Amino acid sequence: MARLLQIAQLGHPVLRQRAAEVGDVHDLPLQALIDDMLQTVADANGVGIAAPQVYESRRIFIIASWPNPRYPYAPKMEPTVLINPAITWQSEATEKDWEGCLSIPGMRGLVPRHKAIRVRYLSRDNEPLETEYSGFVARIVQHELDHLNGIVFLDRVESTRELVMQKEWLKIVARQGRAE
Ligand code: ZN
Repeated sequence: MARLLQIAQLGHPVLRQRAAEVGDVHDLPLQALIDDMLQTVADANGVGIAAPQVYESRRIFIIASWPNPRYPYAPKMEPTVLINPAITWQSEATEKDWEGCLSIPGMRGLVPRHKAIRVRYLSRDNEPLETEYSGFVARIVQHELDHLNGIVFLDRVESTRELVMQKEWLKIVARQGRAE
């Protein structure tokens, strides 16, 4: 049975370390960790989670975009596990949009990200894959990949004036007509 994991909060050193490459993808405790991360991100209304956020400094993250109370306008996709990911291409064009983080609850910031990226990774079945992502999902991938390198979204916000608390952010997206 999958377990709900505790989520590391900003200030814990695990969020500031470079995570280690995964060796054996078929390792049973590693597969159990992935199941637990899938359960944890769904329970927390997250759209992604990286292993360092559950105190495991390894190069694994999950992207799981779906419309939910924390991201009302998120597109729906099957949760996807990316192991040892590497960006192989990124668009020159960037765009700024809102991000939050389960490790920094209650805060949102405007973060510039590449509009589209291509990423090479291993699936949880050890299959080498390369996928192109755009828009909101490309944003999630870049956010989670940052976690594997000890970077959080606050590091990429261009001005502290582009940081807001969740309560006010909900009003802003409602005004922009993005909340459904
Ligand atoms: Zn995060």
